[in-house]
Amino acid sequence: MEKTVSIILDGRALSERLRSQISDEIRHYLSKGLRPPTLAVVLVGDDPASQVYVGNKERACQKVGIRSLVYRLPYNTTHEELLELIAQLNADEETDGILVQLPLPPHIKQQEVIIAISPKKDVDGFHPENMGRLVARMEDGFIPCTPLGIDLLLKHYGIEVKGKDVVIVGAGFIVGRPLSLLMLWRDATVSVCHIHTKDISQYTKRADILISATGVPGLIKPSMVKEGSVVVDVGISRVGDRIVGDVDFEGVKEKTYAITPVPGGVGPMTVTALLMNALKAYKIRMGLT
Ligand code: NAD
Repeated sequence: MEKTVSIILDGRALSERLRSQISDEIRHYLSKGLRPPTLAVVLVGDDPASQVYVGNKERACQKVGIRSLVYRLPYNTTHEELLELIAQLNADEETDGILVQLPLPPHIKQQEVIIAISPKKDVDGFHPENMGRLVARMEDGFIPCTPLGIDLLLKHYGIEVKGKDVVIVGAGFIVGRPLSLLMLWRDATVSVCHIHTKDISQYTKRADILISATGVPGLIKPSMVKEGSVVVDVGISRVGDRIVGDVDFEGVKEKTYAITPVPGGVGPMTVTALLMNALKAYKIRMGLT
């Protein structure tokens, strides 16, 4: 019997479509004389990966017509100075969204910074109030960008989540934990594995949808994946001069119904979800919803 070819969940192509819709919608508002949506991005220090991410977000905003104001602060910025800037941005009428690029230097208390951002401008969705809205299934909150991007990608490819066994490997604050809440919202049966899970393959093998978000290259091997399942690879690691995910892509794709590539899968969808959240914050602020 001939083997069917795995569907590649193309986050780059879907992002292009969604971003063009966002751009059209913004152009429509501008044609009515409204100001553009405005996103403040705060970067503390010079971590190379963070600089790349902020640069990508800045370019993506510009392309769709979102004004992005990037605050590049030196590494030795104090906790108080950062809170002062956030207070100013919270009060600024023309700033719709605020994003503080994580991780922050160790002398800054990350949780306090996240809590200081107004929940109405919290386009990353990390404020406890927005995490609470995710638990409560309230549509008016902000869903963290990577989980939201994955949800959009699965929906676009007609991959039903309801009633499925979704196994998430990685329980980080940015991806795994909020994603588990979102998948529960979508009526999946959710298992979450992490570094202390005794035998992750016991869980991964029965996943209809397996999502890995650990940053451990090659963690997910073909023997750990169910035949005909969907595999979503969130991991981003640099190995030599290559960017790789958590999944042994070539081996695993032989067994899957659908799989995301790295790069070109979840990464672009995360940025697209940020643009959507920024537009949502703007529309709420401008009374356009
Ligand atoms: P994190 O450090 O907060 O969480 C990592 C999680 O993985 C933890 O729960 C840890 O227990 C678990 N883990 C680590 N090693 C494991 C192992 N051997 N077996 C099982 N579980 C293990 O990281 P994060 O911020 O959630 O990011 C995870 C990965 O996703 C990183 O590679 C990051 O670069 C990537 N990421 C990608 C995007 C994207 O847009 N594609 C967005 C955010 C993060």
